Amino acid sequence: MGTSTQQDSLWQAVLGEIELSVSRGNYVTWFKNTCLLKQADDVAVIGVPNIFIKQQLELKYSDLVAKVLQKNGITVQQVKFKISSEAGSNRPTDDVVVLSQPASSNPQVAAKQSGQSTKPGANSLAHSYRQGLNERYTFDNFVVGGSNELAFAACQAVVSQPGTKYNPLFLYGGVGIGKTHLLQAIGNTLAARNPKARVVYISTEQFVQEFVDALRFRKTADFASYYRTADALIIDDVQFIAGKDKMQEEFFHTFNALHQANKQIIISSDKPPKDIPTLEDRLRSRFAGGMSIDMQIPDYETRCAIVQTKAQDHEVVLGQDIVEYLAHNIQTNIRELEGALNQLLAFCEMRGLDPTLAVASSLLSANKTRPKHLSAKQIIERTAKHFQIPLEDIVGPKRDKDIVVPRQIAMYILRNELNLSFPKIAKELGRKDHTTAIHSVDKIEKESKLDPNLRMAISEIKENLYA
Ligand code: ADP
Ligand code: MG
Repeated sequence: MGTSTQQDSLWQAVLGEIELSVSRGNYVTWFKNTCLLKQADDVAVIGVPNIFIKQQLELKYSDLVAKVLQKNGITVQQVKFKISSEAGSNRPTDDVVVLSQPASSNPQVAAKQSGQSTKPGANSLAHSYRQGLNERYTFDNFVVGGSNELAFAACQAVVSQPGTKYNPLFLYGGVGIGKTHLLQAIGNTLAARNPKARVVYISTEQFVQEFVDALRFRKTADFASYYRTADALIIDDVQFIAGKDKMQEEFFHTFNALHQANKQIIISSDKPPKDIPTLEDRLRSRFAGGMSIDMQIPDYETRCAIVQTKAQDHEVVLGQDIVEYLAHNIQTNIRELEGALNQLLAFCEMRGLDPTLAVASSLLSANKTRPKHLSAKQIIERTAKHFQIPLEDIVGPKRDKDIVVPRQIAMYILRNELNLSFPKIAKELGRKDHTTAIHSVDKIEKESKLDPNLRMAISEIKENLYA
């Protein structure tokens, strides 16, 4: 079976994410010339150029591939790697050139997106400092709406005058709402405007890993000078620095060195600086010292616009009913929304169907098996754990505020995720009167509209439940 264009773009999305989570060398060596050959019956078959790559991927990366496929809406039990002539169809000489090019993508794709020349070497110098950037993410393909316009404006301000205003720029909010997209767009724009600038994007997980390696191999001086001499440093998901004391110490010095030299620093996190646990106070105050912006999940209209835009990127025109259906049913995470769209388009393309509401809804409900495995007990336990209160207390008689609120949140989640009846909800939490459950659910529903911290707590609990 040949690869279809939808499968290609699904795989490009998967690669885009893998690229951000492995080192550049590993990405170029193992993933660059792969393709998705087939995806059906719980198995995904990835085409690879040779046996060496096949073995390495099998050994080290099948879990990662499965995880990222799932993030993009494709759940499989097994990932297989197969040597295929379709893989590695890029010019063989690319490998040589690519080492000095962005690790970002296959040059043909990058060219299609940016309309640039792909002559080998043409961009290699200009791009030689673009560590970690993926050209897929731009300001142009970011849809702006009420929930993200402030963040968008701040990012634009940063690229127009890097290092002067808003330093650091700190974006925070839940999973899959566009933080990485904006960070990458800043990086891409800065690098394009000033090709000589060293723009460094790195995920905190990778940053920590590099630091650990530097310690192990006694290369901390190299590590330090590499990051302290960047012209712009973009650190994604900084919450993962929590609890890592030595790393925080190192980062503190990096931060100061850059800040004093008026180099732009951009940081993202799933929560505001003050809520990142075990973050040293001095870092906390540095993070909060510039501009912090709370990003939220795009509202319904924006989600519709995002679905439409992404469908257009695939050169597909979707019926408004399908757009609305997707935007209505996937409310918490744009990555999932995109995953559902990709899945729909791939499904239809492979079977030669036009996307219809019926197909969309059958695919989506097939995916909605997750809540079935979820029990009321798990929700209550997870909520108690999130607020660090004992399980006995959340289902017990105590009426202190720090017990009552988590209890109300548990009720709200039970209602929303399992659709339990109010008497059943009351019973699960050890209450006799079901009106308590009605009031609690209603209260949390209203308050969560106004209180970003509450929304964040709820979405974190849910993320953990489904993780
Ligand atoms: P986060 O870093 O907040 O977890 P991402 O930036 O990775 O989320 O976004 C998840 C996916 O959703 C990405 O593919 C991104 O391109 C897309 N996305 C999120 N918000 C928007 C938006 N406003 N317009 C277009 N795409 C978006
Ligand atoms: Mg992210």
